Amino acid sequence: MSCFQVAVLASGSKGNATVMRCEAGMALVDAGISCRRIAQGMQKLGLHPEQLTAVFITHEHIDHVKGLETFIKKYPVPIFASAGTWRGIKQTLPRIDLQLCNRHILAPQTEITLGGLRVRSFSTSHDALEPAGYMFRYRGHAFGYVTDTGYVSDLMKRELEGAEVLVLESNHDPILLKNGTYPPPLQKRILGTKGHLANETAGHLLADLKTLPQQVFLAHLSQENNTPDLALSTVRGIVQRHRPKEKIQFYVTSQEEVVKNKEWEDYHEQNIFE
Ligand SMILES: [Zn+2]
Ligand SMILES: [Zn+2]
Repeated sequence: MSCFQVAVLASGSKGNATVMRCEAGMALVDAGISCRRIAQGMQKLGLHPEQLTAVFITHEHIDHVKGLETFIKKYPVPIFASAGTWRGIKQTLPRIDLQLCNRHILAPQTEITLGGLRVRSFSTSHDALEPAGYMFRYRGHAFGYVTDTGYVSDLMKRELEGAEVLVLESNHDPILLKNGTYPPPLQKRILGTKGHLANETAGHLLADLKTLPQQVFLAHLSQENNTPDLALSTVRGIVQRHRPKEKIQFYVTSQEEVVKNKEWEDYHEQNIFE
């Protein structure tokens, strides 16, 4: 049983945002859907953006920062990103007024503590200025978040070791991509070391971890070059082949629907019946 409640509000190339809650606080990872959708998504979970302890941004691509311009006008929540990502945000959102923003730099391979929550940033490999993944730790438990990376480095594997709950990119099937409608330069970008993670690579990352996560959210699925069933069967198949005696609870995230883990559902039920 994990102590992390995780709800992926949206995931994919049209927008990403995830809420994580534990006793030590509540964080939003990425703000790539409109501020209104973030607030509405949180409201459906019985939450309000002002309750957030902090926001963490992985990188400056629009599908990760779209809601930020409005968000910072409305909510005085601290926002963490690498220095390069802050520079990139200014390029992606030229009208953003960063003076309004409760802005903090968290460099990759460093960590901060907020209340009892430790948050560590680590480098990913993507065509952005200084992209990062995050690992959240509370009382010996850990929640990891990694999307938008072209490959899995040893550093990333080390950083993600011990995550009980993991949001992990499972972007595409290389064969669907090669046979699909994407123009060759875009295919090359996605398949490159600074692109996006294939289903197989996500599966091998899990199989290589010393301790398997209990729960994995498959994230940032391509709507053209993947399907939820294919992502799930590929990743699960690889894990089963390498770790036949172990079990992961998988959740497949969606561009439109909120996807919550069991801890979130259980918490909600408890509160209804109280
Ligand atoms: Zn993205
Ligand atoms: Zn990206």
